[in-house]
Amino acid sequence: MKPVRFDYKRPATIDEACGLLAGDDNARILAGGQSLIPMLSMRLSRPSLLIDIAHIPELTTFVETETHIEIGAMVRQAAAQKSELVKTHIPLLAKALGHVGHPPTRARGTVGGSVAHADPSAEIALVTATLGAEITYRVDGTDEIFDASDFFIGPMLTIAPPTGCLTRLSFAKAPAVCGTGFHEVAPRKSDYALVSAAAQINFAAGSGVTSIHLGIGSVGDFPERLDVNKLCGTPLDDAAIADAVHAAMQMVETVEDLHATAAYRKRVATELAIRALRDARDEISKDLNQ
Ligand SMILES: Cc1cc2nc3c(=O)[nH]c(=O)nc-3n(C[C@H](O)[C@H](O)[C@H](O)COP(=O)(O)OP(=O)(O)OC[C@H]3O[C@@H](n4cnc5c(N)ncnc54)[C@H](O)[C@@H]3O)c2cc1C
Repeated sequence: MKPVRFDYKRPATIDEACGLLAGDDNARILAGGQSLIPMLSMRLSRPSLLIDIAHIPELTTFVETETHIEIGAMVRQAAAQKSELVKTHIPLLAKALGHVGHPPTRARGTVGGSVAHADPSAEIALVTATLGAEITYRVDGTDEIFDASDFFIGPMLTIAPPTGCLTRLSFAKAPAVCGTGFHEVAPRKSDYALVSAAAQINFAAGSGVTSIHLGIGSVGDFPERLDVNKLCGTPLDDAAIADAVHAAMQMVETVEDLHATAAYRKRVATELAIRALRDARDEISKDLNQ
């Protein structure tokens, strides 16, 4: 099946793209097309205007500040995966990117497109929510910044205004000593995850574990953050980790669908979260023993 007829524009600036969006309620942004084009072809999406943002230079850059790494919305997933800035300062994202689709889809798909699309099983959305990154949208000429931890509100649903264009994601740099863990279960490698878990433990000499970020994906309508900060200050042994994760999972309701039961998702999410935290802990021990 082929898409319905649509008009196509290729703006050169973000404000031009936003102007086009504001001018047509049924307009859609085209980024890497890896989710939108299949939806067009299946007529699940029927826009009257496609706004191709691939030619806006400002959206294709990485910016390093003293405390953060900013990733432009049009940065391809493959470029983020290869980026030394991402590997060094956002190690959890670097780890998760290898699970997103396949090399050909990562060559086209963008980091911003994955977040704007808000698929509950998207690995990039999970890491963005887990780390509480900042998501910037340009709306009517002004920047609106959203905290990723409450940005996703349903399947393919976010709090972003429909006339807005996501311009960048901003991640706090990981401290020099930190550990990360990422695990997912999928029918085949690179398929959408049935269940996923992401963890980062931050460590500072003299004060030990300063914060713990833990999130699970593909178990509900959007990525969930789990609060296990009570583990800070403990020896982080296996029993303490398992107890904290089991306690946090009590609050989580998991979904049932064709692919997996709610009970399966709960059981596997608990196990993957425990493994991700253990990996993160072991990475810190290895760092400290070097
Ligand atoms: C075979 C295959 C396997 C895949 N496997 C996975 C997987 O395992 N994990 C995973 O997470 N994804 C997977 N994907 C999806 C892929 O990661 C997409 O790249 C991603 O979901 C969307 O990003 P995109 O840049 O391609 O956006 P597009 O497809 O161009 O757009 C997606 C949606 O987001 C909107 N949008 C895009 N950019 C912006 C913006 N800057 N501002 C506002 N709205 C915007 C569009 O209007 C559209 O509604 C797979 C795709 C394919 C084809």
